[in-house]
Amino acid sequence: MTEMTDNTVNDSGEKQKPRIATAALCSCFGCHMSFLDIDERILQLVELVEFDRSPITDIKQVGPCDIGLIEGGVANAENVEVLRDFRRHCKILVAVGACAVNGGVPAMRNQFELKECLEEAYINGIGVENPQIPDDPEIPLLLDKVHPVHEVVKIDYFLPGCPPSADTLWTFLNEILAGEEITFPYSLIHYD
Ligand code: SF4
Repeated sequence: MTEMTDNTVNDSGEKQKPRIATAALCSCFGCHMSFLDIDERILQLVELVEFDRSPITDIKQVGPCDIGLIEGGVANAENVEVLRDFRRHCKILVAVGACAVNGGVPAMRNQFELKECLEEAYINGIGVENPQIPDDPEIPLLLDKVHPVHEVVKIDYFLPGCPPSADTLWTFLNEILAGEEITFPYSLIHYD
């Protein structure tokens, strides 16, 4: 297990809380919504950690962190950049949810050529008006295939599920913050 550094002190000699960052790549944001489903337990969590880049803080650039939680598959050049940035800055990187773990729903396009997908979405699809495939240079370049995050960077932990439940995320964070081995009861890891 990757070690958490939990005894860092700041200039005032106070113990610093572990920092957590989260990001969504190609995803539906459902894993983040599940995270928010820990409800009032988030008040306990903010006693234990500081949030870095995350929709919770709206910080745009990830800084040095203890734990990075990544939702979503890798579908475009920007996803690759964000993922590599998280790997550089996070001691522990976690793939959260089916899209991050194995490509999930976004990877359903992998059975088709990218050109076919774009034509279906922007030219041949029902109800399309002014058919043209967008090519603005500000739009991140799509990859030919959607990749799970471990095909791009080293991942330390995988939390399956679509999405992983709030209790799964809560259990994982508590155990890892306590420096314990990650163990889930069967009720949190069965999908039948
Ligand atoms: Fe959404 Fe499910 Fe993918 Fe999470 S794993 S981003 S809930 S589709």
